[in-house]
Amino acid sequence: MRRPLIAGNWKMNGSTALVKAFGDAFAAARLPAGVDVVVIPPFPYLETARQAFRNTSLKLGAQTLNPQPSGAHTGEVSGSMLQEFDVAYVLVGHSERRQLYQETDEQVFDRLMAALASGLTPILCVGETLEERDAGHTMDVVLGQVEYVMSRLEPAQRSEVVIAYEPVWAIGTGRTATPEQAQEVMAGIRSYQASFDAVLAEQLKLLYGGSMNANNAAELLAQPDIDGGLVGGASLKTDDFHAICQSA
Ligand code: PEP
Repeated sequence: MRRPLIAGNWKMNGSTALVKAFGDAFAAARLPAGVDVVVIPPFPYLETARQAFRNTSLKLGAQTLNPQPSGAHTGEVSGSMLQEFDVAYVLVGHSERRQLYQETDEQVFDRLMAALASGLTPILCVGETLEERDAGHTMDVVLGQVEYVMSRLEPAQRSEVVIAYEPVWAIGTGRTATPEQAQEVMAGIRSYQASFDAVLAEQLKLLYGGSMNANNAAELLAQPDIDGGLVGGASLKTDDFHAICQSA
């Protein structure tokens, strides 16, 4: 059985006060056993979060990392730095990074390799735009993004990767993919993976992301190929995020 994973991507939001509120709320309200829950705050809050989450089962994630281990890369952060703050997961290829910062598949792959080299679990984000969906290219686009990375990995590396399917048109828009739409794409990702390795495909953890909230999470998470969620806006409120975790 695949262990469910709920990850909250705060993007460029939050504050020290919010980090502490999460620490207090999740120390008081227990999470379901058997579910991994990750909070992904902006870099400056990692140390505060590490302290604040000590009495909780929340794990820490980061929103990106630089492919290089160190050096003249002003403004960037390396995998080994994240490791020092007990970061366990890191997003790579989020659509906002692809669109706003022109990250290519090649750069996404390099970041993912840096994550693996530092012992971090990469959450590889993939997804189609509305134009691509309307043109009937959803599976080509999504599997193209998956294939670029997965076909370059050794089997042992592939088993470390979590994939988040996030239709770009559903991110931050309040417009969620229907459970059927999400399931169709995610089943496609799993069967693509099965073409390499059937055992690995069964183990592959697939998250849905795109306006997941406390009201729609249960239905999405009930789909056979959806193993968890990557949550943006609704991960900024303790009650909403806790309710989503309860649905997993
Ligand atoms: C995200 O940022 O990955 C995301 C899914 O955002 P939202 O839940 O706000 O759509």
